[in-house]
Amino acid sequence: MSCDPFKLSMMAKIDGELGRDEEAALQAHLAACSPCREELASHQRIKEMTSFLRLRQPEDRDWEQYWSRIHNRLERNLAWIFVSAGAVLLAGFLTFWLLEQFVLSAAVPWALRLGGTLLIAGLLLLFVSVWRERWSLRKTDRYEGIIR
Ligand SMILES: [Zn+2]
Repeated sequence: MSCDPFKLSMMAKIDGELGRDEEAALQAHLAACSPCREELASHQRIKEMTSFLRLRQPEDRDWEQYWSRIHNRLERNLAWIFVSAGAVLLAGFLTFWLLEQFVLSAAVPWALRLGGTLLIAGLLLLFVSVWRERWSLRKTDRYEGIIR
């Protein structure tokens, strides 16, 4: 018989979560299968060795802080995506509108056309620069959201 179905049973036994029927089935298999006996013994040794190394259980307050931090981060990331998408749309629309109305129109004096072009270029550059700064900060600031 395959050992696979008993791997989970062994883990459950080690955690003290094995039902009576499963226990009986596992014992029957162990009686006939020495590799599984050895595996169970080795799991039990590891369990004994690590049982005194138990991690402190997080308190409810820790969990609340953890989740509120995650929510904050999600909200801010979402807000940042909305702002970026909106800005890109607006910038694109404004660029085409200004191009159409001023820069490509022969009826508009050259100084106004040049001014419009410089304005668009400058705004785009500013936007890209701010966005890039924000992006690199996001990547490097590992301690974001950690209360010091
Ligand atoms: Zn086996």
